[in-house]
Amino acid sequence: MDEFSIIRQFFARQAVQRDDVVTGIGDDAAVLITQPDLNLVCTTDMLLEGVHFPELTDPYAVGYKALAVNLSDLAAMGAQPAWVTLLVSLPVADLNWIKAFSAGFLELAADYGVQLIGGDVSRGALMVGVQAMGYTRRNQALLRSGAVAGDDIYVSGQLGDASMALKAVQGHITLSEQERARVVRHLEYPQPRVNLGHSIVGITHAAIDISDGLYADLGHIAASSAVAARINLDLIPISSDYRQHIEELGWETVLCGGDDYELCFTALPQHSEQVAAIARRVDVPVTKIGHIENGRGVSALTSDGAEFVPQQEGYDHFAA
Ligand code: ADP
Ligand code: MG
Repeated sequence: MDEFSIIRQFFARQAVQRDDVVTGIGDDAAVLITQPDLNLVCTTDMLLEGVHFPELTDPYAVGYKALAVNLSDLAAMGAQPAWVTLLVSLPVADLNWIKAFSAGFLELAADYGVQLIGGDVSRGALMVGVQAMGYTRRNQALLRSGAVAGDDIYVSGQLGDASMALKAVQGHITLSEQERARVVRHLEYPQPRVNLGHSIVGITHAAIDISDGLYADLGHIAASSAVAARINLDLIPISSDYRQHIEELGWETVLCGGDDYELCFTALPQHSEQVAAIARRVDVPVTKIGHIENGRGVSALTSDGAEFVPQQEGYDHFAA
């Protein structure tokens, strides 16, 4: 099957056909309608086999996750996703692979009303690149830099399961069939917190999505905002599966492992009722884990005062 047939058959057929797309797939570039009272928010991420997903990962999951991690970045900006472009390079035109990949990608796109408006396909090492675009009301994007002393710190969902799954996949820990299936689901199918992200606009001072571990990502909020973040380890939401293995995994995996794709954000204590109401409305658990103070850096303490000091901060592709 040639390149154009692949594009026509697997990428151009999609459920979402937005009114703000004048021209999508099929011309030299896409043409979009933007609005003066909105800000366009753009993000891009690549996924390489062997680096971002293990070899032989289900292609449906690769397609899903390639989009999910980008929607997670838009969520962290408080943006409503609208459009996406897609780069795929693969060693051979394996139609079963492309079919499952495109299904994972386009089904998630349909869940959020995101239209695939262009891309490219090439032969090469297995790699997927996605650019996602969305919008916020003018000057309403949630930045990392807005946290102020006195803010509470929140996280969505539960942390650590994805990283625990990676440890299991790599053979570093042994899990029961059931535990393994459940945590691997978190690794392969992170839920982008899109509805939560744009619902907390106007209440939240700073936000980030947790892709490199809470410790490092909260560190980015602290650094950008020039404040200190203090968190209580006993408050960090972890799953019962994680709790079962906490002796082996410790806090390192939950704080410094990656791939959670939950949101971390800050808001004044007087908005805690509103945050809780939003969490109920969007049906995503949200937990208060600490607060912002004057100072610098992140400190993580248990309630009996023991401090967690990471052996490694978040994942760094170029770390020596
Ligand atoms: P060009 O030669 O102008 O770069 P291509 O032949 O690469 O065009 O692509 C033809 C059309 O198909 C373009 O609209 C392009 O954006 C779209 N396209 C190519 N690959 C993909 C893909 N993986 N997903 C979505 N659209 C794609
Ligand atoms: Mg091209």
